[in-house]
Amino acid sequence: GALLVGPPGTGKTLLAKAVAGEAGVPFFSLAGSDFVEMFVGVGASRVRDLFQDAQKAAPCIIFIDEIDAIGKSRDSRFGGNDEREQTLNQLLAEMDGFDTSKGILILGATNRPEILDKALLRPGRFDRRIIVDKPDLKGRFETLKVHSKDVMMDETVDLDALALATAGLVGSDLANMINEAAICAVKKGRKYVNQADLFEAFELVAVGGKEKKDRVMSEQERKIVAYHEVGHALIDKLLETSNELHKVSIIPRGGALGVTWTRPKDEKLHVSKEKLIAKITMSLGGRAAEEIVYGEDKVGTGASQDLQNVTNLAKKMVTQWGMSEKMGTMAYGKSQEHVFMGRDFGHQRDYSEEIAYQIDSEMKRIVDECYENAKKLLTDNRDMMDALANELLEHETLDEKEFEEIMERVKSSRA
Ligand code: ZN
Repeated sequence: GALLVGPPGTGKTLLAKAVAGEAGVPFFSLAGSDFVEMFVGVGASRVRDLFQDAQKAAPCIIFIDEIDAIGKSRDSRFGGNDEREQTLNQLLAEMDGFDTSKGILILGATNRPEILDKALLRPGRFDRRIIVDKPDLKGRFETLKVHSKDVMMDETVDLDALALATAGLVGSDLANMINEAAICAVKKGRKYVNQADLFEAFELVAVGGKEKKDRVMSEQERKIVAYHEVGHALIDKLLETSNELHKVSIIPRGGALGVTWTRPKDEKLHVSKEKLIAKITMSLGGRAAEEIVYGEDKVGTGASQDLQNVTNLAKKMVTQWGMSEKMGTMAYGKSQEHVFMGRDFGHQRDYSEEIAYQIDSEMKRIVDECYENAKKLLTDNRDMMDALANELLEHETLDEKEFEEIMERVKSSRA
């Protein structure tokens, strides 16, 4: 089995259908919510029926959309849902039970992989993940081309410009947009769709109508976000934090305007002070880049999560890990950070106001030093930062290889 993971509207169902089409085999498709019934036992028997039909038709593909509706983690704190649990157990049993030589492929789709029951993700079940992400500039252009194929458009239409303006939209939004533009043209008594119709429809799809968590960014915002993300990633590279830079992107998703994904090259439980300092510096890189490029009073609110992370790390360095010379190798505060019923009751103080003040000033010292260093690193490499931000604005996503190539290019042009 394989799990297609991605936000709604990115074409997970289409992809599954296309796989079945290419393979030339029967395609069984059901949504997770179809299994969840009022009556206990109905869902489980539907799963049984589905697999029986599939066995008969094998080789074939079974597609279960919104698998999170049945596959939600069972260790829920407030008691489970019997019906869903039975259905899930039946699904697990069927997946383990069927004859693997028969050629049944199971595809599941979800936009919330983190809530899935671990048992579903074990080897032999949904052990492969395929990320179906929001389309980048090129992806949007190609999607627009497909959907506009059968719509008559006049010579003002510029799909390139439209693709550029629609960062954050998914395939179904784009299809919807072209449809709305066609309606718009008809209303105005025209036979052909023009660029103005498309932009009008774009506003309808992106802003009005259904509420959008990921709003579309203005040109200025895109620039700020590009510098912010490059600030993180460039410091990560310059400090050689032994992180692997997975991807830098300014395609908005899930409320965040951009992302810099890194993952440690090897997973270590023991983290050195040096690494933590590097991590804080990198987290401050986004804010530092904004300040360098736009000045202190122009920095946006985009760094609030970064600053939260930085504060948490600095606090732990001082109060739990004994990494401040001034405060000594001592733990302050009862360190049982209870996570109880999902709520973090946090730290309990068992020290004086005086100590609390010292802890705060030590944290501030660490963060200030890191911030100054972040600014220095970026200022010293301003040419690199500019080149990277420009490329990111143009391509919206850079992977590690592309990122390093740009760094190399700038380096060699310095000589
Ligand atoms: Zn950031």
